[in-house]
Amino acid sequence: MLVILIIKQKLFRYIIVLAILFGIAGLLFLLFQTTKTEGVLGKLTVTLDPGHGGVDGGTSDQQGNLEKNINLTIALKVRQQLQQSGVRVVLTRDRDTDLAPFIMGRTGRHRRDLLGRIKKALAARSFCLVSIHCDSSVDTGKQGAVVFYNYLSESSKELAGLIQEELNLVQDKPGDIAPGKYFIIRQKALTGVLVEVGFLSNPNDAIKLQSDQYQELLAGAISKGVLRYCRKALGNGE
Ligand SMILES: [Zn+2]
Repeated sequence: MLVILIIKQKLFRYIIVLAILFGIAGLLFLLFQTTKTEGVLGKLTVTLDPGHGGVDGGTSDQQGNLEKNINLTIALKVRQQLQQSGVRVVLTRDRDTDLAPFIMGRTGRHRRDLLGRIKKALAARSFCLVSIHCDSSVDTGKQGAVVFYNYLSESSKELAGLIQEELNLVQDKPGDIAPGKYFIIRQKALTGVLVEVGFLSNPNDAIKLQSDQYQELLAGAISKGVLRYCRKALGNGE
C-alpha cells in the first residue's frame, strides 16, 4: 500500500513538472511568434498623407480654421502612435507646404500636388497609404468620420473597413465606408484609403476637430485600424 502511495506521489510530481515545462514552452512559443510579427511589422512602411497644405488650405469651419492644419496635426499624432508599434512611417508633408513643384506645363497645380504625394509613397515602397482630410457639406447636419476606399481594390476596402470599425468606437454615430473616386487612392500599385475625419461644416464636428483630446482619439483609431490591417496581412492576429 505504502509503495503504491509513493509511486502515485512520484507520478504526481512528474505530471506537475511536465505541466510546468509545457507551460514554459507554450509561453516561449507565443513570445517568439509575437516578436517575429512585430519584427516584420518594423519592415513595413506606412505613408500618411495630410491633405492640402501651403497655398491650399482645403475647406474651413465658420471660424476660419483651415482643414490643412487639422489634417497635419492628426497625421503627426498617427505617426507617433504607429512608430510606437515599430512601423516605419513616411509623411507626404510634415509641415505647412504643398507638393506641387513649379513647372511650366499643362498639368494643373492640384494634380501636380497629388502626383508629388503618390511619388513619395511609391518611392518609400509603402505597404499602404492613408490620406487624412476633413469634409464639408451644404447640409450642415452631416457629421462624423467616413473612410473612402478604391472600389477596384479589395485590400483598400479591407483597410477602410478596419479603420472605420475603430473610428466608430470613438464617434457618436457609427459611419459606413464608401467607395471614393479620389485620385490619390486610385493608384494600382498602392493600397490607399482616404479618411474624412469629420465635417467642418457641422458646428459640433468643427468644435471637436479643434480639440486635442478628440484629435488624439481619431489618431488612435486610425493607427489601430492600420495596425490591424498590417498584422492581418502578415498572417497574425484577427
Ligand atoms: Zn480635403
